[in-house]
Amino acid sequence: MSLLIQALRYHGQQDVRVEYVEAQPCRKDDVRVKIAYCGICGSDVHEYLGGPIFPPPPGQKNPHTGVQLPVIMGHEMSGTIVEVGSSITEFKIGQNVAINPSMDDRHHGNVECSICQSGRPHLCKSWACYGLSAHGGGLADEIVVKPFNCIPVPEGVSLKVAALAEPLAVASHLIRISGFYPGHDVVILGAGPIGLALLLLLKVKGARKIIISEVTESRSRQAERFGADMVVNPLAETSDEAGSENLVLNAAQSIMGDGADIAFDATGIQSTLDTALLVVKPGGVVFNVAIHEKPLLINPNSFSFKEVKLMGGICYTNEDFEDVLEYLASGKLAAEDMITSIVPLEKVVQNGFLELINNKAGHVKILIQPSK
Ligand SMILES: [Zn+2]
Repeated sequence: MSLLIQALRYHGQQDVRVEYVEAQPCRKDDVRVKIAYCGICGSDVHEYLGGPIFPPPPGQKNPHTGVQLPVIMGHEMSGTIVEVGSSITEFKIGQNVAINPSMDDRHHGNVECSICQSGRPHLCKSWACYGLSAHGGGLADEIVVKPFNCIPVPEGVSLKVAALAEPLAVASHLIRISGFYPGHDVVILGAGPIGLALLLLLKVKGARKIIISEVTESRSRQAERFGADMVVNPLAETSDEAGSENLVLNAAQSIMGDGADIAFDATGIQSTLDTALLVVKPGGVVFNVAIHEKPLLINPNSFSFKEVKLMGGICYTNEDFEDVLEYLASGKLAAEDMITSIVPLEKVVQNGFLELINNKAGHVKILIQPSK
């Protein structure tokens, strides 16, 4: 008889269930990790409300992993290694790890493609993800992964904070590929979890001035606490009766001179894209962080006339996990304040998913803790 574990499984829109499922076998090149904490991502909430986006459609299999609904959710996890396969030499039982949930050619037994070989396995055409499209996820008692999914947690970093490594790695990766240099001025449009993670990391990485644009009061306060130089509500009333004044632009002109070196759009609506193009200085970068539900309008003149680069990015590599874990170990990155609630796995639906839907502005990151 095989062992049963508790896990949250996605059956479809507004149908996620805590259930007992069979534990995966730990084969010779696998590692079994007992989950300590797993965060709920905004994308998990999107799957709940409007999915499946990343899990396979009903009745179909993921072409790379063969998995079909229901799938175990959760991809922001930390834990402790409890079993290693016979060919594993780089990890030992008892080691604490953060998990990079990305899967690529290596997981499917394929020859690594040119994209994987170029150091971008997160863009592999065979990409899949634990917690969305694989046989296992972090909202469970345990998970079986490959050793290259595991990043050792340095001494002095708790497993609780290590569960933030994934969202922080997203931010760290986007900053790394954006062309950011210490001394740059940055505008961030939106203070959700990734906007705040960008803010925390940009401060550690040496940004000169950071302006946050955010409409909700509670998130604005969080951005202030996390050290933004200015927090602007773009919808605040102004003396300009025509309503044509852009308050974020005013702020950028007041403390950044010629504008921002980089504008990160972490909201993804027409007005935030327009504002990003407005506040960026000539030669700067407008960086799309948001996931869009529909296309936006853009006049290419707006990047031609200022020689602005328009770019985007997604996910991370193991290097990004290593970077943020090092920052966390150094004590410079005070990310623990991102955790607004810790909830047992049994209550993940009511106090996790539904709480993030009904009280979104009250939270940055909810962590889920398995019972065992
Ligand atoms: Zn590949």
